[in-house]
Amino acid sequence: LFVDAPLAEGARIALDRGQANYLVNVLRLKAGETVLVFNGRDGEWKAELGIEGRKAAGLVAVERTREQTAPLDLVYAFAPLKHARLDYMVQKAVEMGAGALQPLLTRRTQAARVNLERMRSNAVEAAEQCGILSLPEIREEVDFAKFVKGLEEDRLVVFCDEDAPVANPLEALRKGVLEGWNNAAKFAVVVGPEGGFVDQERALVSAHEKCIRVSLGPRILRADTAAVAALAIVQSVLGD
Ligand code: SAM
Repeated sequence: LFVDAPLAEGARIALDRGQANYLVNVLRLKAGETVLVFNGRDGEWKAELGIEGRKAAGLVAVERTREQTAPLDLVYAFAPLKHARLDYMVQKAVEMGAGALQPLLTRRTQAARVNLERMRSNAVEAAEQCGILSLPEIREEVDFAKFVKGLEEDRLVVFCDEDAPVANPLEALRKGVLEGWNNAAKFAVVVGPEGGFVDQERALVSAHEKCIRVSLGPRILRADTAAVAALAIVQSVLGD
């Protein structure tokens, strides 16, 4: 369970109504029973439930069960989609290890301004579900050109280009990540909008010194499918 409170031995944790309802009425936990909580900074803790009357009074942190792990420096940069598909894409990116989610305004981005709060709550839900302890950073939307210009020199960019010649993405990535780029430690996966990238955007990102242009196979994937495919490939090469 994600709690927005400092975690240390004996720390008292207040619960919001939704959390109290979930623990007491859905999980039917009794006073003294424990749950695992994380706040994205202090690792994972076992916390004991205290109930007053019918509602949960709160939790008390008892012992740390896992140390905090630094998230992989993996930015998932994507042209936002409409609601339900954006929810799906955010959840999959978090499950697949993205440490930051960067909505991109590309020439053919269709969705209106992204709802960052909604993205954040989807990211928390995905983190709770897959047991990661660090919360991905949800970044403000940025123009594609500005994003590319802001890339650090040593960030390895996996540019998913539907127009890239079909080749084995694993080979392309292995070649890029493991050879010659002194074990890059910073990554970005870039996926375009439903209408695809325009050539100026291709040229811009391909000019980034550490850019690997990757085909995800002979078929055109929907952007949310491409997210899962691309991140799965990156994770398999990084083994993280
Ligand atoms: N222009 C096409 C279209 O309108 O159907 C492709 C857009 S595709 C739906 C959205 C994004 O997913 C692309 O910009 C690319 O980043 C990624 N993508 C989809 N299929 C891909 C593939 N076979 N190889 C590499 N990237 C792909």
